[in-house]
Amino acid sequence: MTTGVLALQGAFALHQSRLESLGERVVQVRIPADLEGLDRLVVPGGESTTVSMLAERFELIEPLTEFAQSGKAVLGTCAGAILLSAEIQDGRADQRCLGAIDISTRRNGFGRQVDSFEQEVQIPILGELPFHAVCIRAPVIERVGESVTVLATIDSRPALVRSGAIMVSIFHPELVDDLRIHQLFLAM
Ligand code: GLN
Repeated sequence: MTTGVLALQGAFALHQSRLESLGERVVQVRIPADLEGLDRLVVPGGESTTVSMLAERFELIEPLTEFAQSGKAVLGTCAGAILLSAEIQDGRADQRCLGAIDISTRRNGFGRQVDSFEQEVQIPILGELPFHAVCIRAPVIERVGESVTVLATIDSRPALVRSGAIMVSIFHPELVDDLRIHQLFLAM
C-alpha cells in the first residue's frame, strides 16, 4: 500500500517518517499527479491559510476533494483537520475547505494565550494507555454532524473524530513516539 502525505507546507516530514517506520511506502504530494495510485492520504498540520493558498495555486483543491470522496482513508491533523472540514470559523475570507468531513472547525479556538499545550488523552479505541496529545494553536471542533463519531475529547471538546474513511485530530500525533494513531489509520 502507498500513502501520500500532502507536502505543501507544515509538519509533513515527521508523518512520513512515522509511516515509513511502520513499513509503509510514502509519497509526498505537491501536484495533482502525485495523487495517482495512492491508497490513502495524510493532510498534516501547519498553517491552514497557507496550505489552502498553495493548494489553490497547484490546482489541488478539486483532486483532493475527489480523493477524500473516493472512500480512501484520509488522516487530517490540526491544520489538516481545518482543511478537511465542512466549515471554518475565524478563517481568512478566501480560505478554502474541502468538505470531506461534516465538522465545523474554529481556527486557534483554544485561545490566543494558550498557543500550545500537551495533555494525556483517553482514546478508548486505542486501549487503556492514554495518548500524549500535543496541541499547537489547535482548532476547536465546534460542531460534528450525525455521520461523525467522536473518538476522544480534550476539555469536553472533540479531539479525534471519524466519519467513514476520514479521521481527523486537533493534536499532532506525529510529534510523539506513540504510533497508535498512525497504526489505526493504516488499519482503516
Ligand atoms: N492554527 C493553525 C491554522 O489555523 C493550525 C496549527 C497547527 O496545525 N498546528 O492553520
